[in-house]
Amino acid sequence: MRSMTDKVAITVAHGDGIGPEIMSATLRVLEESGAALEYENIEIGKAVYERGFSSGIEPEAWESLRRTKVFLKAPITTPQGGGFKSLNVTIRKSLGMFANVRPCVSYHPFVKTKHPGMDVVIVRENEEDLYAGIEHRQTDDVYQTLKLISRPGSEKIIRYAFEYARRNGRKKVTCFSKDNIMKLTDGLFHSVFDEIGAEYPEIENEHWIIDIGAAKLADTPEAFDVIVMPNLYGDILSDVAAQITGSVGLGGSANIGEHCAMFEAIHGSAPDIAGKGIANPSGLLLGSVLMLNHIGQPEQAETIHNAWLKTIEDGIHTGDVYTEGTSRERVGTDGFTDALVKRLGQKPDTMAPVEYDKTSNSCFVLPKLVSLDPSDKKTVGVDVFVHFRGSADELAGKILGALSSEFSMKIITNRGVKVWPGGMPETFCSDHWRCRFHHQHAEVMSHREIIEILNSLGGVGLDFIKTENLCTFDGERGYSLAQGE
Ligand code: NAD
Repeated sequence: MRSMTDKVAITVAHGDGIGPEIMSATLRVLEESGAALEYENIEIGKAVYERGFSSGIEPEAWESLRRTKVFLKAPITTPQGGGFKSLNVTIRKSLGMFANVRPCVSYHPFVKTKHPGMDVVIVRENEEDLYAGIEHRQTDDVYQTLKLISRPGSEKIIRYAFEYARRNGRKKVTCFSKDNIMKLTDGLFHSVFDEIGAEYPEIENEHWIIDIGAAKLADTPEAFDVIVMPNLYGDILSDVAAQITGSVGLGGSANIGEHCAMFEAIHGSAPDIAGKGIANPSGLLLGSVLMLNHIGQPEQAETIHNAWLKTIEDGIHTGDVYTEGTSRERVGTDGFTDALVKRLGQKPDTMAPVEYDKTSNSCFVLPKLVSLDPSDKKTVGVDVFVHFRGSADELAGKILGALSSEFSMKIITNRGVKVWPGGMPETFCSDHWRCRFHHQHAEVMSHREIIEILNSLGGVGLDFIKTENLCTFDGERGYSLAQGE
């Protein structure tokens, strides 16, 4: 038995909607399992948003999180609409929790599923991609969000996926990306995957284009083992994967960083069933099992997980997984918790019991990132984006009439498609144009020359809305060509 001094402090948030119901069930099971924990409760979410904190969290709560470094969090409700930032995204990014690990397992024949052999772990990048939240309305017609993929971000999550596979006896890591279209951003993710995969020869690696990969995952999840992917794809596909195990209510999730970790259910606050006492606490419970392993209490993790499997196997099911003929007893949150607590110390008879490594915890440190030497970067041109109502030829005429003979305009595109020179009359054009400039005589373009181009455009009343410098890195093009260029 642990002494009181061995207790690990964790921060707990009871959340919104069904949050308080499933959290009290989870804390009860943790208590009964003998987990050595002490709790710092914080309030986050709806009530905090309503008190005027647009981030949904107050300064004292950050202090607790930075002190304990371990967060057990019930789902919260993100208010719709203006001004409110997603608290989940804020916490994950602010505390550097770059890896979101979501095991999705089916419990055939005890929970109805079309995929009896499913046992997939989704490792989702948690900090970047479209979740940068950098969005702008640029013209009457067009809104933009920035998708940012970094080399260090890709390296961390991909290495994490391979290390996870190695330590958990997994055989294969699959990468999903859309690098046939996003050749630079997703292309980087894919190439880092190939580089790092080569360092783990004992683990099979493969890459799928996300669209057909998603179809395959939904149809034949048994074909996959660990899947690593950028943030948005991982968000969507981990819900799909959890749902096809039988219910989104069954999945737990770990957010892991170098400094802090957060454990939660995959699902949200389920306002439609809040307060009815019928929510399935399994997602948060299995999240707490991941937490116990992370903080070095694998015995308790194993005890809870096996009792949970036994409860499921005994057909004691909440409404979301209850099926006539398969389930034995339909219970609410408390009934399920009572049944689980009674089974602490028992193991499932038919399903394989879990066995966790008691010699080391699941928390591992990744090797330090090796930063690349700075490249030889040259600015060779500029894309200027313009808000303009009219035709491509009218825009080109205006620009060419104003542009100094030092520069040439190579192309105008609209939503990425070439519309000048030689555009097609069928191409639909919005009011958002990209005009690409290079130097007539020199290979490189200076900042002063970019400003000169902007001045020429402004001088004829053109509303430029942003620029993107065209750069090469060690001679390699760092920008995409337009469709038709
Ligand atoms: P949801 O996951 O809350 O609910 C989707 C469906 O699944 C609902 O029909 C719900 O009743 C059911 N469901 C979910 N969890 C269940 C459980 N434990 N037991 C039984 N049934 C369950 O998704 P949503 O309705 O899109 O989102 C509701 C709110 O949750 C939103 O405000 C959203 O922003 C928030 N959300 C929070 C988190 C989080 O805190 N990590 C994650 C996702 C969504």
